[in-house]
Amino acid sequence: MRTILLRFGELYLKGNNRNIFESILIENIKKKLEGETFKFSKTFGRYVISDYDEQRESEIVSKLLKVFGLHSLSLAEEVDADYKSIEDAVKKINLGKKTFKVVVKRADKTFPMTSMELASTLGGVVLKANKEASVDVYNPEVEINVDIRLNKKAYIFSSSISCQGGLPLGSAGKGLLLLSGGIDSPVAGYLISKRGLKIEALHFHSYPYTSERAKEKVITLAKRLCHYCDEIKLHVVSFTKVQEAIHMHCAPEFMITIMRRIMMRIAERICKRDGLLTIVTGESLGQVASQTVQSMTVTNSVVKELPVLRPCIAMDKEEIMQVAKNIDTYETSILPYEDCCTVFLPKNPVIKPTIERAEKEEKKLDIESLVEEALQSEEIVFLNGK
Ligand code: ATP
Ligand code: MG
Repeated sequence: MRTILLRFGELYLKGNNRNIFESILIENIKKKLEGETFKFSKTFGRYVISDYDEQRESEIVSKLLKVFGLHSLSLAEEVDADYKSIEDAVKKINLGKKTFKVVVKRADKTFPMTSMELASTLGGVVLKANKEASVDVYNPEVEINVDIRLNKKAYIFSSSISCQGGLPLGSAGKGLLLLSGGIDSPVAGYLISKRGLKIEALHFHSYPYTSERAKEKVITLAKRLCHYCDEIKLHVVSFTKVQEAIHMHCAPEFMITIMRRIMMRIAERICKRDGLLTIVTGESLGQVASQTVQSMTVTNSVVKELPVLRPCIAMDKEEIMQVAKNIDTYETSILPYEDCCTVFLPKNPVIKPTIERAEKEEKKLDIESLVEEALQSEEIVFLNGK
C-alpha cells in the first residue's frame, strides 16, 4: 500500500512540552487535509498517512508541504514486515543505471535478520532486478531505505522531500501582524507563523485617499498567507482622521513617526482586548527613514506591555523578495496601489527622532480620541485560503 511518511524535526527538543506540540501538529495536519479521505497513524517518531485516493497524492503532498513543524516527508510503500513482502517491494524499484545503497533501520528488534544482513541481501535483490545498477555505499545516487517499525510494518522509500520545518502553528500563541500592501509585512507574517505564532492581521486604510482596491489587495495578500497560516481574522481600521490631524497640526518631518506611534497604540489596544500576545511588523533595519534604530526606539516606546517582533529586521530586500516569491505574495505586493503611508508623505522625514520631540509634537493632538475613533471604525473580515 502506498503511504506518506511524515517526519518532524525540532519537536524533539521540547522535553515535557513535546506532547502539547505534537497534538497541535497532528490537529494542524488533519485540518490541512480536511476534505480528503485518509487514515492517520503514529508510529514512534513518525506519522503515516495511508488509505488515501492515490489520484490525489500530489495535492495531498502539496498541502502537507505547507504545514509548519513537519521536517520532511517520503512517499513510501508499506508492506507487512516479513522478508518475502519486503523483497517483493524492493524488487519493484526501477533504478536504471544509477548507483545505490540499501539502508535498513530496525525499530522492531524481533525481526529475524540483523539490519546488516537484510541490507546486503536486499542489495543483491536490487542488483538482480536492475542489471545496469551498481552499489556505491559512500556516495550513492539513490538511497533505498527499509524501515521496520514496531507496528509490524515495513516502509520502503527512496527519497525524502523537505517540508517547511519550524514549529506547529499555534504552539507559540497568537499575535497581531501589521499588514500593509507591501512586500515585507506578508513575509514577516509567514516567518513568524513558521515559529508557531498564529496570526491575526491589522490593516490601516485611508479611504478616500486610498482606494477600495488597496484594501482588496491586502485581502488577497492575507488569503495567500492563509495557505500557511490557516484562517486569518483581518482587522481593517480607518486611519484617515489620524492622518488628517497629524497633517494639520504636526511638523511634516514627524508625520511618519507620529503615524507609526499611533498605529502601535491602536495595535496594542486590539491585542489587549482580544488576548493577542505580540505585535509583528515587516520592518527591516535601515530600509527607510522610519526603520532606523532611533526611529524604532521612538515607535516602540508607546507599546507598554507587549513585545514587538520584526522577523525581517536583519534581512536584505533581495532576501525578503525571495521569500515573498516562494510564498506567492510577491506578484500581489508589487501591484501599484497606494498605501496609507504614502498619503501626505513628507519630503524629509526625520531619520533620528527622539522620544521627547515626538511627545512634544503629539501634545498638539488629542491622541486618546483619535485612537478611540479609529477603533470605532474597525471592520472584521474572516479569511481562509480557499
Ligand atoms: P511593507 O513592505 O510591509 O509595506 P515597507 O518596507 O513598505 O513595509 P513601511 O511602509 O515603512 O515599510 O512599513 C513598515 C511596517 O509597518 C510594515 O511592514 C507593516 O508591518 C506596518 N505598516 C505599514 N503600513 C501599514 C498599513 N497600512 N497597515 C498596517 N500596517 C502597516
Ligand atoms: Mg509599506
